[in-house]
Amino acid sequence: MSYFNELYQEVILDHNKRPRNFGELSEANSQAHGNNPLCGDRLTVYVRLDGNTIAEVRFKGAGCAISTASASLMTEALKGKTVEEVEQLFQKFHAMVTGKEMSEQSAADLGKLTVFRGVSEYPIRVKCTTLAWHTMLAAIHRSDETVSTE
Ligand code: ZN
Repeated sequence: MSYFNELYQEVILDHNKRPRNFGELSEANSQAHGNNPLCGDRLTVYVRLDGNTIAEVRFKGAGCAISTASASLMTEALKGKTVEEVEQLFQKFHAMVTGKEMSEQSAADLGKLTVFRGVSEYPIRVKCTTLAWHTMLAAIHRSDETVSTE
């Protein structure tokens, strides 16, 4: 992961080693599975929606360091957000990891998630990074289909 600066790399390695909000969520009222066959990343996102708000979110799965760290950081970022806020944040996140120019406001909104900025230089890694998000969106839209990045 030499393409990430040291600080970013540290955050990603830490979240891979000790993923936050990891494990099943027994009181989940929605969930979805995600699969990135290119890399072998698989995960399940569990959500407890309270009306339109993400009251609780957890994930489980196995994959590369980037996919695990991305899921971990995502769950931290999305707790308490509304469905619309999740969608807006994903648009900013997706723009960032696909190398679009990022405004200061977007960077501020993304906060810690900007550690994945360097991914834009490695298109194959974009799918590792966005898998958790696509799966999250499927869960909050209560789509039971498995998400595949292909
Ligand atoms: Zn991966």
